[in-house]
Amino acid sequence: MFLRKTIAVLASAAALSLGVVGTAQAARTITYDSTGAALYESDITEAVKVWNASVKNVQIKKAAAGTRANFTIVSDPGWPRAQPTTLGNGKIWMGKQAVDQGYNKIRIAAHEIGHILGLPDIKPGPCSSLMSGSTGGVPCTNPNPNAAEKSRVERNFAGTAKADLTSVEDAA
Ligand SMILES: [Zn+2]
Repeated sequence: MFLRKTIAVLASAAALSLGVVGTAQAARTITYDSTGAALYESDITEAVKVWNASVKNVQIKKAAAGTRANFTIVSDPGWPRAQPTTLGNGKIWMGKQAVDQGYNKIRIAAHEIGHILGLPDIKPGPCSSLMSGSTGGVPCTNPNPNAAEKSRVERNFAGTAKADLTSVEDAA
């Protein structure tokens, strides 16, 4: 009896401490569903790569088929836009209007994802700013967030990762 209780206490203490470590180091993962924007699939993939290489506290991946994504991306004839709901969630419209005017598609996708990650527009602004959007100019092909934009996303997602108890148990 005593032994069993001791083991149980030790096990839960170990799980707790591992959980705390895991939480501090883990990135929050958010998923997207771009099945409604097949035309822009490669541009979206590149934009996601840019964000995943730019920040640590959040990582973006494609939602598995049949699962609900944190944000959806669709194509439409209007101007590109995003409707963030809560941090990391919402909807993006890859508007054809800007693409037809010659704006860079990867930059458009990265900019709209920036809104999902909690960034506001910073307009007008230079091409070096991702959130300057169209004010960066038609020839601007920069899909990278600048240092201030990156650190704002890092702050937005700091500490938002949920402890993944399954992987903690696997690791233990
Ligand atoms: Zn915008």
